[in-house]
Amino acid sequence: MGVFDPIIELSRGLGETLRSFWREPTVTVQYPEEKRTVRPRFRGRHVLKRYENGLEKCIGCSLCAAACPADAIFVEASENTDEARFSPGERYASTYEINMLRCIYCGFCEDACPTEAIVLGDNYELSFTDRRQAIYDKDMLLEPVPMAEMLTPRKVEPGLFTRSVPQMKDPRD
Ligand code: SF4
Ligand code: SF4
Repeated sequence: MGVFDPIIELSRGLGETLRSFWREPTVTVQYPEEKRTVRPRFRGRHVLKRYENGLEKCIGCSLCAAACPADAIFVEASENTDEARFSPGERYASTYEINMLRCIYCGFCEDACPTEAIVLGDNYELSFTDRRQAIYDKDMLLEPVPMAEMLTPRKVEPGLFTRSVPQMKDPRD
C-alpha cells in the first residue's frame, strides 16, 4: 500500500457521501409526527372489529385462544339479551385479553375466528414499561364507534340478532 492510498480511499468515501447527499432523496421519516405506511400484509397490533351497526363481531367462542400457539389470548364469554346486546347470537366476550409479550404475530387467531372479529392491524406502536401494561384488554382492543348510539351494550328489537355467525351469500366464496 502506497503512502497516499489511505487519503485516496478517504476522499472516495467522502465523495460518495456528498454524492448521496446532493443527488438522492432523503429517506428519514420524522417519527412520531410522520408515520411510515406499512406493507399490505403487515401484522401489527390486534383490533376487535364491529359490524357496521356497531355490534361487536366477537361471539366469545374462544377459537382464537385455542389456535394461539403462544397461549397469549384469554376469553371469557357471557350471555347476550335483547335488553343488553353486545354481539349477534347467544354470547359475547365479556373478557378478552391478549398478552402482547407472548404474541408472536403469527395471525393464527385471525385465521381461526369464524366472524372475522380479531384482526391484526397496522399499528406497530407497542411499548411498555411494566409487564401488566402488555396485557391489552377488550376496551383497548375494541374498534371505536362513530356515534354514541352505536355503543354496546344496547337495547335491540327482540329476535332480530339471533344468528352468531353471519349468513354467507355464497358459501363457495
Ligand atoms: S398473532 Fe399468533 S401469537 Fe399472537 S395472539 Fe394471535 S395466534 Fe396468538
Ligand atoms: S375473536 Fe373470534 S375466535 Fe376469538 S372469541 Fe371472538 S369470535 Fe371467537
